[in-house]
Amino acid sequence: MEHEVLVVGAGVAGLACARALADAGRRVAVFERARGVGGRCATRRVDGQPVDHGVPFLHGGEPAFVAAVEAALGDDLGRGWPATVEGDGVPCRPAAFEAGSARWAPRAGVNAFPKALAAGLDVGCGVEVVAMHATDGGARLEVVARDGTTAAARTVVLATHLRATTTLLATVDPRPPAVAALAPLLALVATAPCLAVIARYPADAPAPASDVVWPADGPVATLVHDTAKRGPGARRVLVVQATAAWSRAHVETPPEAWSRALLRAAAAVFGAWVEAPDHVEPHAWRGARVVEGTELAAPVVAAWPGGARVGLCGDAFDARGGVEGAWHAGRALAARLVAVPSGPA
Ligand SMILES: Cc1cc2nc3c(=O)[nH]c(=O)nc-3n(C[C@H](O)[C@H](O)[C@H](O)COP(=O)(O)OP(=O)(O)OC[C@H]3O[C@@H](n4cnc5c(N)ncnc54)[C@H](O)[C@@H]3O)c2cc1C
Repeated sequence: MEHEVLVVGAGVAGLACARALADAGRRVAVFERARGVGGRCATRRVDGQPVDHGVPFLHGGEPAFVAAVEAALGDDLGRGWPATVEGDGVPCRPAAFEAGSARWAPRAGVNAFPKALAAGLDVGCGVEVVAMHATDGGARLEVVARDGTTAAARTVVLATHLRATTTLLATVDPRPPAVAALAPLLALVATAPCLAVIARYPADAPAPASDVVWPADGPVATLVHDTAKRGPGARRVLVVQATAAWSRAHVETPPEAWSRALLRAAAAVFGAWVEAPDHVEPHAWRGARVVEGTELAAPVVAAWPGGARVGLCGDAFDARGGVEGAWHAGRALAARLVAVPSGPA
């Protein structure tokens, strides 16, 4: 089947964009580098038990987003989580606790949201796009996967995180001025890394009093009692996420060393038992969140004289940021692509 739009990246932004385009009758294919969809809206299985090691819970206030999340999660809403929070530190997105904002932590994991967005879409996982070229005199764009396979369409959406988007745009050949202008625009946006540790404990480990703690100082930004989101019988699991500054300083050091240091810091909050897990999985998010440059704040489209066009979306392209911002950015880009049909300039 000939596709009209190729979406690169199956995080919340790419899937929201693809879903809206498909609903508007466009033939869309999505390519995702990872084995599954969701990107930073991530849930890992530890011996079958879901653990959220990226965004710890979903939140948002805009009615269309609230409706989309609740429709996607169905009976597994986990509404109002976290219920017990403590600490004088700053949550990743303080807006999550403002009046009018809803919060959700499904038992199946936050990844249930992007999975539901992907249902029925043509999504190819395990496909890393490594280059992009204009063909047919700039009428179409061809994307090249790492294994050498190619696909072409009139419109390509890059819903990859910023570093990958910048890398892919640098491969585009030929590159008209409108497309070349995108690189300095993206350079306005800064992201921060986040080192995260999943730690599982023996059955007799104590239950922490709080669902989430934001310590005021030290290396830990967010300490999550992940088990509190799961059903009866779930093993005790914590997720420890480091501050941006601490993550930057340690991201190139061995994961064993920074995992131990983060568990030591978490033990100062929950108790000495935190330093004795029976299973540890470190994960380094190199571009966890957008910290500067949300002035882009709207999806971007650039065209070739022959009518081919590239659209950019993701959490950097909506002032709300985070999962809600990613969803809005994907939808806004789809609306723009549908409203302005491509054609020769
Ligand atoms: C530790 C952590 C804590 C967070 N806390 C919060 C929070 O409290 N609240 C909140 O709202 N948000 C939070 N976030 C941020 C939130 O998860 C992101 O803003 C949101 O998920 C971004 O979605 P996205 O679709 O823009 O990007 P991503 O989820 O990054 O999706 C991009 C996708 O593109 C794929 N990709 C990249 N390159 C290629 C390629 N070359 N070819 C094919 N595919 C490619 C990636 O594998 C990925 O699946 C947190 C994130 C992290 C990591």
